[in-house]
Amino acid sequence: MNIGLLIAGGSGKRMGQDIPKQFLTVNEKPVIVYTLEAFQDHPEIDEIAVVCIEGWENMLSAYAKQFNITKLKNIFPGGENGQDSIRNGVYGLRDAYGDDNIVLIHDSIRPMVSPEIISDCISVTEKKGCAITVIPCAEAMLETNDGIESDGSYPRDRLKRTQTPQGFKLGEICDLHKRALESGITNSVASCTLKIEMGEKVYFSKGSEKNIKLTTVEDIDIFKALLMAKRADWLK
Ligand code: C5P
Repeated sequence: MNIGLLIAGGSGKRMGQDIPKQFLTVNEKPVIVYTLEAFQDHPEIDEIAVVCIEGWENMLSAYAKQFNITKLKNIFPGGENGQDSIRNGVYGLRDAYGDDNIVLIHDSIRPMVSPEIISDCISVTEKKGCAITVIPCAEAMLETNDGIESDGSYPRDRLKRTQTPQGFKLGEICDLHKRALESGITNSVASCTLKIEMGEKVYFSKGSEKNIKLTTVEDIDIFKALLMAKRADWLK
């Protein structure tokens, strides 16, 4: 079974709104509903689970009903940080379904995830045991300590920008979280960084520039533009 696990346990402080950013409405639909629909409509996804910020669970269930998200079967509580929230989700899923299923961990605030991205993430996870959605790094990359000046650069050809979904076997991601906690790692930024901090290799699947993460209000403007954009038929 392939399960989409949407991570929506954060309060979205950087967006500076009173409503958590995953529940902000864009063109008459909450952001998280766009993300839920992407997984609902994907033929290879069997079930959806959400790690939800406290106090919003009933709202989430109501939206799922309103927008016919029939694959949503489980809602788990959010944690103190992203690592805690993901751990709550994967532990909950393993208790319910066992070790061998594939889980695609996805930011609820990446509503533009495409069918191709989800398919490639599942395919690489089946073949390699895990899959981190990435895109190339087009910009020149500079290192800084103070945010004001730099005297160091990284070769961009050796860098990847990571996105979600990030795919794993349920048993393996639960085991990784358990070992990470035992090693004193409590606040890793993402599942891919957690695996690397534990000295393990990750494999890449194909992302897209359009698979944006809504972090600031500016990103909402970009999201609206992407919703309206349709590629010209004659472009190859
Ligand atoms: O903080 P950041 O923007 O990297 O969050 C990525 C995802 O992790 C978001 O979908 C957010 O809701 C989630 N998150 C969470 N629990 C937290 C903090 C963030 O589920 N305590």
